[in-house]
Amino acid sequence: MDIKTNLENINAKINEACHKAGRNPSEVKLVAVSKFHPAEDVIEAVNCGQILFGENRVQEAKEKFTGIYESYPEVQLHIIGTLQRNKVKDAVKIACCIESVDRVELLEEIEKQCAKIEKKIDVLLELHTGEETKSGFPDFESLKSTAELFVQDKFPHITMKGLMTMAPFTEDKNLIRKSFSTLKESLQKINALYPALNLTELSMGMSNDFELAVEEGSTIVRIGTSIFGPRVY
Ligand SMILES: *Cc1c(COP(=O)(O)O)cnc(C)c1O
Repeated sequence: MDIKTNLENINAKINEACHKAGRNPSEVKLVAVSKFHPAEDVIEAVNCGQILFGENRVQEAKEKFTGIYESYPEVQLHIIGTLQRNKVKDAVKIACCIESVDRVELLEEIEKQCAKIEKKIDVLLELHTGEETKSGFPDFESLKSTAELFVQDKFPHITMKGLMTMAPFTEDKNLIRKSFSTLKESLQKINALYPALNLTELSMGMSNDFELAVEEGSTIVRIGTSIFGPRVY
């Protein structure tokens, strides 16, 4: 696995997908998902200019990134996996964004832990659009009522930046596209209801579907396998 070549290929494909959709490539951020891959692989990617990474599990991320931050303070980490309440304390220490917020209880804990260390953190609210995964807010109503809490300034240490989803695992491109367009429409609806939030981020697209996602307006793609190779669980 040549991480440098893979990163070049992915960035070229993102550029191409942007071009096709009439978008500026600077609108799309690449999160390199390093779960199940060692710190050496992350460092190799950093040396190729990649600074933004994604991890699913807080414990693994903490062990891996604590050392990396010492040598590469510019590195940034997003937590992208379902988060248990008792992991929030560590999560807010190591990450600049939690993309996988799927319930209000989690926001309350993030607020509490960020207040303790006087840190501000970004979050995305995850919307459930696929059938297989259980994660995410179940529908637009729950998303909307949660977004409203930010308008009421209930979480002074948290900035809501946008929405995240995982498309269904299927070959059916129409279904995948539908998942992405649902997320985009949800963002537009929330911005129309609560302009003060000024949400800008749509995290959607993984190794198998990121080009579709970019065409549908993704601003964050989360790519693991196509950069680091298959995961050995
Ligand atoms: C693992 C993971 C990814 C990356 O998936 P690949 O198919 O390896 O690119 C993206 N998003 C989430 C939430 C993940 O858990």
